[in-house]
Amino acid sequence: MAKIDPSSQTSFYESVQNYFDKAAQHTNLHQGLLDQIKTCNAVYKINFPVRINGEYKIIEAYRAQHSHHRSPVKGGIRYSNHVTMEETMALATLMTYKCAIVDVPFGGAKGGVKINSRDYTPEQLEAITRRYAFELIKRNMLGPAIDVPAPDYGTGAREMAWIYDTYRTINQDKDIDAAGCVTGKPVSQNGVRGREEATGRGVFYGIREACEIKEDMKKLKLKTGLKGKTIAIQGLGNVGYHTATIAQDEGGAIIVGVAEVEGAIYKKSGIDIHELLKFRKETGSILNFPGAISYGKEERSIIMEFECDILIPAALENQITMENAHLVKAKIIAEAANGPITSKAQEVLIEKGIMVIPDVFLNAGGVTVSYFEWLKNLSHMRFGRMEKRYNQQSYNQMIDLIEKTTGKSVSARDRLMVAKGADEIDLVRSGLEETMINAYQQCREIMVQNPKVDCLRTAAFLNAIQKISTDYLALGIFP
Ligand code: GLU
Repeated sequence: MAKIDPSSQTSFYESVQNYFDKAAQHTNLHQGLLDQIKTCNAVYKINFPVRINGEYKIIEAYRAQHSHHRSPVKGGIRYSNHVTMEETMALATLMTYKCAIVDVPFGGAKGGVKINSRDYTPEQLEAITRRYAFELIKRNMLGPAIDVPAPDYGTGAREMAWIYDTYRTINQDKDIDAAGCVTGKPVSQNGVRGREEATGRGVFYGIREACEIKEDMKKLKLKTGLKGKTIAIQGLGNVGYHTATIAQDEGGAIIVGVAEVEGAIYKKSGIDIHELLKFRKETGSILNFPGAISYGKEERSIIMEFECDILIPAALENQITMENAHLVKAKIIAEAANGPITSKAQEVLIEKGIMVIPDVFLNAGGVTVSYFEWLKNLSHMRFGRMEKRYNQQSYNQMIDLIEKTTGKSVSARDRLMVAKGADEIDLVRSGLEETMINAYQQCREIMVQNPKVDCLRTAAFLNAIQKISTDYLALGIFP
């Protein structure tokens, strides 16, 4: 939950700033430049009225723009009762580093609306979303070249379509690139195929890459590869759901533990994630899943203590604190959520020899595919439209030639497999995979090159600081 961790008194924002300071120690950069990179450039707080059931309700909302070293700025919009200015700033800050790590040319931003979306009807949510978008447009804080929101906790494609429509209505004839004012839109509304699964798929590619490195796995006393590794996952929202299904179906991992709002379950022999989702749909809960041990709502954070190889917090921040860090049994913690570990708890985990794959790298798949969507919107064309048929023809000609020279024929099935031109979804997944693998290797390399860098998070922050400082220095702001 978005709260101050009572035992360590480290807020989410403080944790992010602590991580920055820890990494900054490994640079020779001017303190003024470091301060400029670290500071949150602008925060806009709005209170606006919305009529709900004949009454006026004042809604509290924010948009934080952390860094303008690149334009536009980018980051999701969160709907949660726990939204605060500090939380929004922390999330915007992470966005800046995240974009730098995966080479997405945006500054970081984040929005928050302090509501629980479950308390409102779709019509009321639409009114709130459109009013929020309008407030941002009024202040010149929304647009394809200015600030481009996306989904986050509590929002999805539906809300993004409302924002797009609000922007388009106001800027009808003035902005030919209006569709690029927001990403994560439905595919029918200028969205891109693969955006919805992108964060979870990126988490999968990131974990898989980490598990592929033999010497790192050896240090953790684990076998190389994701196949057969046991996973406990907290949260089956968009990110958790896609991470779990892809890790199971494509990666061959075994899900042994799952936690959701109603409680947690553990089953040593493995939980089929599709069966579990079906069960939850039927019963309204993951509890009492056949063959699993169930823990009620009050005990649900026991997930952090489950026996497993990989623990994936995929819910909210501050989940692993000084209270439970020493109880973690997993060898790897993969941060699918933003900020699930406090900076103090991280030191305990490092001490215990646990590998933490940090959020700033691991969940950057969402913004990576948002970048692809924004590019699609600016080009006004679906990916693959120009080259798909051309590639199909070339591959077919090549197969014909092979058949002719060898005198052997290729089966229709194999021909279809080889000569299949790439569709938009294939290209998006391929671009995402390439991005996550590259970024992981870059961060790991920083760690290998700097023996004093004791964790992947510091390496990832260092990677971001180096890239952002290069921009500032080249721009001549810090001669
Ligand atoms: N909300 C997501 C994140 O935290 C996605 C942001 C985006 O696509 O702009 O990374």
